[in-house]
Amino acid sequence: QAAANPDRSVAFYSQDMNQGMQERMRIESGLRQALGNGELILYYQPKFEIGSDRIVGAEALVRWVHPTRGIVPPGEFIPLAETTGLIVQVGEWVLEQACAQAAIWQRAGVPPFRLAVNVSAREFTASLPERVADTLARYQLDPSWLELEITESTLMHDFERVTGIMDHINTLGVALSLDDFGTGYSSLSYLKRFPIDTLKIDRSFTTGIPADGSDCAIAGTIISMARQLGLRVIAEGVETVEQLDFLREAGCDEVQGYLYSKPLPPVDFERGLRENWLLVA
Ligand code: C2E
Ligand code: MG
Ligand code: MG
Ligand code: MG
Repeated sequence: QAAANPDRSVAFYSQDMNQGMQERMRIESGLRQALGNGELILYYQPKFEIGSDRIVGAEALVRWVHPTRGIVPPGEFIPLAETTGLIVQVGEWVLEQACAQAAIWQRAGVPPFRLAVNVSAREFTASLPERVADTLARYQLDPSWLELEITESTLMHDFERVTGIMDHINTLGVALSLDDFGTGYSSLSYLKRFPIDTLKIDRSFTTGIPADGSDCAIAGTIISMARQLGLRVIAEGVETVEQLDFLREAGCDEVQGYLYSKPLPPVDFERGLRENWLLVA
């Protein structure tokens, strides 16, 4: 039928495209305003060492408190911010806010844990290490409080350039982890060439444990490879005791997921620290 009336289908097509584009522009200008209006907030999700159940870290995850739509999850604006370049300003705000928060905990005498910040490929530029160093200095924050989570896509750019940036970050004493590990397409040989501290097994594999044999095999292989390479390994998206049992047996170091805690606003996260997570010896 489309062939019988080509004009019409073209008209529908461009109208759809227009709507998509208008929607994107609406979100982008909204996000730009949100940055200025203080509508972004960070939630924090704890990471635990398997075995000791000690809190060993937390991940900062951005949320947009939209005036009419309520709390908007990052999946609805981060990918767009990455294509428009606005992610750079979002990322600057996130790093600033995370360091400010960690410095508050440091001053309050909270036993140190690493606070991880997600960094998109577009933020991973030569100016990043200096910005990190400057932020740490301004807050007098010990670098052992900070970790950056990057994805494999970041590593697929110019090797020399990326290695230089990673080495510089490493020199600062800031940890680096490889997020969503197992979902990218890059060669495994980069694992020995880049200064990475931790592999994060992607949630899509954790979800299949223990029912899906392939997911179990992939998670198990990532864990044993990480151990042989001297890297730490964490599984994200752990929701059940069965998953935890499998990961413990397989030798996984750390876990993060709803089984322990969802990402929480600062007040609730601090209550968790006070009432639960810091009490486990
Ligand atoms: P990610 O870095 O892989 O973060 C893990 C996501 O899994 C988070 O979603 C977290 O809430 C969710 N999650 C954790 N445990 C569980 C679980 O047990 N079950 C389920 N179903 N989900 C779990 P969130 O907060 O919606 O963030 C989504 C993605 O948005 C992040 O994936 C990250 O790629 C991106 N993102 C979030 N904050 C930032 C940021 O500040 N900067 C950048 N560049 N990206 C960010
Ligand atoms: Mg992450
Ligand atoms: Mg992840
Ligand atoms: Mg993931």
